[in-house]
Amino acid sequence: MNGLTKLVGILGWPVSHSKSPAMHNAAFAYLKLNWAYVPLPVATTTDLKKAVEGLKACGFAGVNVTVPYKESIIPFLDSISPSAREIGAVNTLVINEFGNVHGENTDAPGFIAHLTAEGIDVSSHRVAIIGAGGAARAVVYALRKAGAQNIVVINRNKDRIHALPDAQALVALEWNENSFTYACNHATLLIQATSLGLNDNDSLPFPESLHFSKHQIVYDTIYRKTRLLKKAEKDGARAISGDGMLLWQGALAFELWTNVKAPIDIMKKEVNYA
Ligand code: NDP
Repeated sequence: MNGLTKLVGILGWPVSHSKSPAMHNAAFAYLKLNWAYVPLPVATTTDLKKAVEGLKACGFAGVNVTVPYKESIIPFLDSISPSAREIGAVNTLVINEFGNVHGENTDAPGFIAHLTAEGIDVSSHRVAIIGAGGAARAVVYALRKAGAQNIVVINRNKDRIHALPDAQALVALEWNENSFTYACNHATLLIQATSLGLNDNDSLPFPESLHFSKHQIVYDTIYRKTRLLKKAEKDGARAISGDGMLLWQGALAFELWTNVKAPIDIMKKEVNYA
């Protein structure tokens, strides 16, 4: 690092657990780019506007935005891509030399890139999504764009389902055992997009009594092997964690900032994506 190093980073709270600094810094080192990716912890929403002003003032080239600011940061941006606008969430900022702050969403194409890499064509699946927060918004948008027709959504707060992109095309179900049973019987691709499972002692988002079959794929957006994924594997289903989504959303952000093709194989190692 020297006086000419270009800076990017991850803005959110907390950020200390994030794998993104290791992933991006490994890519910069491999390509010998004089760039650095730093953690940018912002503890309260009241500091968010100041944080965006600070990025501009310090000449940052961009940042990733993570929990809990993907939606609340939007009013402080100069422009936003049509897809991020439709999703209602931004996970990548690109700041140009004039200090214009542009918001993008790479979670949605990152999610589809991961499924494609896993050989999954969503248009041939019946899909159930658990969750209706920022991750679910990107997942629903990406699935609809990729041709998924038959999508049911279960969320604790049912009203949030009606605020998802293309909500009229989704079947909204209550958060109860009947809905989970229906989802387990109906869906060939189940996507867990709540924050349940981030901690080892979190309860399962599905009732313990339900079982998956070997014809099902269970995808957890959380990027490690959660209790849900362990259960799915035990039941004989195909279990996939969100580490590939993390990888591809990061690769797309890297390319937006640097205009250089992301070294996927190098970045893969840092997120333990096989
Ligand atoms: P949000 O805060 O926007 O949404 C949280 C979601 O979790 C909501 O659906 C919320 O339901 C639900 N939820 C939270 N606590 C509970 C609970 N106790 N019981 C039932 N439901 C609960 O978070 P995000 O959508 O941004 O993130 C969700 C997950 O997705 C995180 O675990 C994150 O790690 C992962 N993620 C992974 C990415 C990747 O690259 N792999 C990218 C982005 C996110 P309600 O609406 O009822 O409150």
